[in-house]
Amino acid sequence: MLGLLLIAGCVAESDARLRRPPPARPGGEEDSAVFDTAPDDSHLEETGDSSSELETGDSGDGSAVEACYLGPGRDGSICLPVVAYDVSWGEDYYYPDPYEGSAQYLPPVRFVDLDDADPMLEVAPNFALEEYMAAWKGRWGVLQPHVVERVQDVRDEVGAPVAVNSGYRSPAYNAEVGGVTYSRHQYGDAADLDVEGMSADELADICAAHGADYVATYETGHTHCDWRDHPLDPAFYDVSAARAVARGARPLHAAILERDARGWTAPADGFDEGEPLRRWSAFDKDGNVLETMEGRRYSPPPRAHRIRVDVGRQVVLEAELGPL
Ligand SMILES: [Zn+2]
Repeated sequence: MLGLLLIAGCVAESDARLRRPPPARPGGEEDSAVFDTAPDDSHLEETGDSSSELETGDSGDGSAVEACYLGPGRDGSICLPVVAYDVSWGEDYYYPDPYEGSAQYLPPVRFVDLDDADPMLEVAPNFALEEYMAAWKGRWGVLQPHVVERVQDVRDEVGAPVAVNSGYRSPAYNAEVGGVTYSRHQYGDAADLDVEGMSADELADICAAHGADYVATYETGHTHCDWRDHPLDPAFYDVSAARAVARGARPLHAAILERDARGWTAPADGFDEGEPLRRWSAFDKDGNVLETMEGRRYSPPPRAHRIRVDVGRQVVLEAELGPL
């Protein structure tokens, strides 16, 4: 009987939904010790419907007032105005305090007004705006341009339709769908992808090949890909508030191999979006692969000397087989 425990990553989940810090004041009391920032000198409006007053280009403090996307011609010409966060939006947009002070978890300070944007806007050759964010999930949204580019890269490599099952989630919507406190979907750099006829594993490989910083596979068939370590986009974030780009924290993943009379299981914790996909492999005494299977429970063939299970692309466990 052998049980192995492996833990990767460093984020413990917290149920506490903290009030977001005051908008656009990263140098305020709560954050100054963490980010050591200069006082905010944003010229952007902070109240009301300011989109009509914003000019395109630069706000004057180096931050963009529009977010530009790849677009159908791949020339970055599809731009959407962004508006400053306003506290009047209420609890739906209360972000948690940055995880362990990580600058990658700064709350966005600017958002796209989705009531003002065409849902069918082609943000990339194969993707419309509404696939990433939609007003019915919350009026304001964050979609970092580099993610649209990387997902289009994935689409180009796949050569077939790639469904974005979930893109941006406001904090309220994220909570509603059971997302964890620090889900990257709230920061506009995550996408849950699905390709008909392609395994979640294969899709995870393609995301990783296109720079995804974190991937996870789920039994539902979707692959979560995010680019959490990439520099935050200045259209949405007060990047001057970050002393340096910090590494985005990872969820704490844990899994253990267990064996009973009916076979092997690998109970796991820390997967944000459901049961992770488990892929089992059995090896003979020479290390040759005998078979590979997916599922929650596994019974290796008689000739197997060793088994391995990959749990959601985040934990790998192995065991030598002994007599029951
Ligand atoms: Zn996801």
